[in-house]
Amino acid sequence: MSPHSKEISTCETSTRIDGLPVLEDNIIWIWIHGGNAVVVDPAVSEPIQQWLTARGLNLLAVLQTHHHSDHIGGTEGLLQAWPKAEVIAAKADLERIPFQTISVKDGDIIKLMDHQINVIEVPGHTKAHIAYFVNSNQGKGGTRALFCGDTLFSGGCGRLFEGSPVDMFLSLKKLNTLPEETQVFCAHEYTESNLYWARSINPKNNSIKKRLKEVIKLRGKGLLSLPTTISLERSINLFLMAKSPKELGELRNHKDNWKG
Ligand code: ZN
Ligand code: FE
Repeated sequence: MSPHSKEISTCETSTRIDGLPVLEDNIIWIWIHGGNAVVVDPAVSEPIQQWLTARGLNLLAVLQTHHHSDHIGGTEGLLQAWPKAEVIAAKADLERIPFQTISVKDGDIIKLMDHQINVIEVPGHTKAHIAYFVNSNQGKGGTRALFCGDTLFSGGCGRLFEGSPVDMFLSLKKLNTLPEETQVFCAHEYTESNLYWARSINPKNNSIKKRLKEVIKLRGKGLLSLPTTISLERSINLFLMAKSPKELGELRNHKDNWKG
């Protein structure tokens, strides 16, 4: 297992999720089950193609959370190598993600690699942003993984490019109803700077200080700070803790203009 790997289930066929850092701070998550792989938001294709080929893995599907180029930029390249791979994306973004082969909307359930995936609409960062909740349905010990793109970050949330504070408030509220042990696989490694900002707003919050210390250590060793969990974010994420859209909007504005 690579240092960026996370074993997420103990079912017979081994399941794990690996993170491949690319570009400045993107993480492409690769979910592996047996000899198959599902890739989330491939910013680029080549490193993924090499990574999968080196391990003899077949690309079964690509999950797209939204249309930004640092999330879909590698998909068509991967399709050239694996023409049978499905591309799952929001139907509402058919124009901006035209190569999608399975179009989904809020509430849809997809079956992939012996797991059930719930599609959750989470507008705010973009208007058709979706998240994928992977659930192995094996009781408490089973897989609970959330691929949330640029909606929820550890200690932060996505910028409001196309949505309002109300949209993001409701989207985060939805994600906050997932089981607390859910592992959260965000699309960017922003945790350290998010926590410096959060600490500047809330200097007495010990959970933020503790997590920041741990993250500095991890990053110092070249490791990812992700995945995080819903329960951890409940104690360190000021956006998730916001009591109203107004409060969330004020935090978002402050963060957008924060120079650190
Ligand atoms: Zn984005
Ligand atoms: Fe992004």
